[in-house]
Amino acid sequence: MKIAAFTIDGNGTFAQDVPAFAAAIAAAGADVILVPGTSRVRRSFPAAALRAGAAIDTNAVAVLADGDKVSVQRWAYRQRILTTFTRKARPWIIATDPALFADICASLGVQPEPLAADAEASTRTKINGVVAAGTGGESTIKPDSPLLFVAGAGWTKKQADGATHLDEAAATITGFLAKSGASLGSSKSLVDMPEAAKAFRFMSHMNQVGQTGATPRHAKGLSTCCHGEEPHVVGWRFVNDRRAVNLDANCGWAQGKADILYVADAFAVMKRVNELLA
Ligand SMILES: Cc1cc2nc3c(=O)[nH]c(=O)nc-3n(C[C@H](O)[C@H](O)[C@H](O)COP(=O)(O)OP(=O)(O)OC[C@H]3O[C@@H](n4cnc5c(N)ncnc54)[C@H](O)[C@@H]3O)c2cc1C
Repeated sequence: MKIAAFTIDGNGTFAQDVPAFAAAIAAAGADVILVPGTSRVRRSFPAAALRAGAAIDTNAVAVLADGDKVSVQRWAYRQRILTTFTRKARPWIIATDPALFADICASLGVQPEPLAADAEASTRTKINGVVAAGTGGESTIKPDSPLLFVAGAGWTKKQADGATHLDEAAATITGFLAKSGASLGSSKSLVDMPEAAKAFRFMSHMNQVGQTGATPRHAKGLSTCCHGEEPHVVGWRFVNDRRAVNLDANCGWAQGKADILYVADAFAVMKRVNELLA
């Protein structure tokens, strides 16, 4: 039975160490391999053992060899019970208490050899450059903008003519964002809506403002087609100058949540605003 021992000096990352340690386990051709249970060993050797098809145990305080039988001693239950156990699996890695490593090697008559982790063996991804970052176009979330523009579910609802106007809504919203440089916020109802996911590709759950969304810090906020319910408006707690456009004079914004509420059709209002900004 062959017993090998490795000392491992210096530092190494998990990505570098695992392939190097696995290669050393395979190259050693030993039945039992002793290593000192340093933080580096405890971090990477279990993964290396798995990769090399070896078994591993840690926290060994004694290793006893009797012919082909090797047994390990380890404390359990906070040093209350000293257990002695053995394994049939080979190779078997035994990570000892680091302070006892030299004594354990000496008791077995094994001379430890230094194990150099080969950085070249690392499979860590190296980034040489970014060819195309993102595919979603320009971000509609602009934390540095002075204005937060919130679009609510009303943009997807049937309007006075009894029909929805998703394309017109999308064009009006993106037109305003482009002209004003505002950051786009949304209500939960809107970002959760499947039809909005299709028609309003410029927004996602990342735009959601509120209790379960973001709490942006823009100086001013303009809410459109959003009812202004408490779970949404708590996300506005850092926005001090607030205006809203809603058809409903009794909406949440009217209950002291906005400085000014325009009771009006947001389609018409924002279309006119876009014309004025042109
Ligand atoms: C635990 C919990 C957490 C939540 N977290 C959040 C959260 O983080 N963020 C959030 O937003 N919500 C959250 N909600 C949901 C929230 O309570 C409301 O359901 C949601 O904000 C409603 O969205 P909305 O106002 O866009 O839609 P709606 O309630 O459907 O309101 C649509 C509004 O559009 C108006 N409207 C329609 N057409 C026009 C038009 N042409 N012009 C002007 N106005 C128009 C209507 O009058 C109506 O007021 C949460 C709820 C719960 C229970």
